[in-house]
Amino acid sequence: MQNGLLKIIEEAEQGRAMTVEEMTDIFATDEGHVVRALFQAADRVRRKAVGEEVYLRALVEFSNHCRNNCCYCGIRLGNRQVERYRMEPEEIVEALAVAHRLNIGTAVLQAAEDPWYDTGKIVWMIEEIKKRYGMIVTLSIGERSYEDYKAFKEAGADRYLLRHETSDSELYARLHPGMTLERRLLCLRRLKELGYQTGSGNMVGLQGQTYLSLARDVELVRDMRLEMAGIGPFIPAEGTPLSDAECGTLDIVLREVALLRLNSPLLMIPATTAVATLDSEGRQQALQCGANILMPNFTPLRYRESYRLYAGKICINEGTEQGIEAISGILSSINRSVGKGPGHSPMRNGKSIAC
Ligand code: SF4
Repeated sequence: MQNGLLKIIEEAEQGRAMTVEEMTDIFATDEGHVVRALFQAADRVRRKAVGEEVYLRALVEFSNHCRNNCCYCGIRLGNRQVERYRMEPEEIVEALAVAHRLNIGTAVLQAAEDPWYDTGKIVWMIEEIKKRYGMIVTLSIGERSYEDYKAFKEAGADRYLLRHETSDSELYARLHPGMTLERRLLCLRRLKELGYQTGSGNMVGLQGQTYLSLARDVELVRDMRLEMAGIGPFIPAEGTPLSDAECGTLDIVLREVALLRLNSPLLMIPATTAVATLDSEGRQQALQCGANILMPNFTPLRYRESYRLYAGKICINEGTEQGIEAISGILSSINRSVGKGPGHSPMRNGKSIAC
């Protein structure tokens, strides 16, 4: 069986798509040498497919008002312990001036699902960011209407992140009251149709989640030909129904990052803040088994504490300069360099999947 897994990893490195059953076995194995082989193969594929550069995305978390009640989320509507904030559109655009000065090519506007930011406000911000800084604009603002997605695209938005969180529709429904996986996937399909570089991703370590469902998460990203995928461990948040549940593990997060890289070689994969919250070396490890993106936080410090999706989130008291220094330290420790330019997924350039 273990030799069988090594062969599967070798074949995947050569470009054969893994089956869900094979991926499930790789999640389940307790053979250290198989896991090491997986990480090394994913690192080689990453180097060949997307290169040594690590692209930076300047993140601004601009509102923690949410209309939803996701059971794991620290800023869910029902959490009365949260101090709520909303940044004004001008303040959001201004927060990106430093990122532009630092030559970071991409802005990520992220917020809870907050209808206060109507179509006009979002369109205004996209146009201003393009006009003032010429940056690539990524939106991460949840489920919106087709008309909104279209208006944002026409205003110049380039990318959209919308994590599906779990490919298990029953688990999805339990964790997201009033929401469905079907609707989430419809949004992802619409975003792709409209021409966005589209990203999704999932959580690892949710109660009731199986290795089979994690394998299906990898399959979903591959089959939908998504261009980005962010994987984070579940970390319990205070004031939520899951506050006492156990965290996901770094090991399984890294296995999924590696499986994503092997199954979707051209994917842009961030080493997430949640991984670093779980383990101070987490981002380095993720970058060495498939990841190629980091997302420094440019949210003004006074708001950071309030955008606490889970307990112990790092970077809350870290100034922008400190954050950039930390990133430089991470990259020099693993001999990687910062990518120049927009850092688009090579899928956009018509590069073939089998690379
Ligand atoms: S996960 Fe997102 S949509 Fe769900 S409650 Fe939190 S901020 Fe809102």
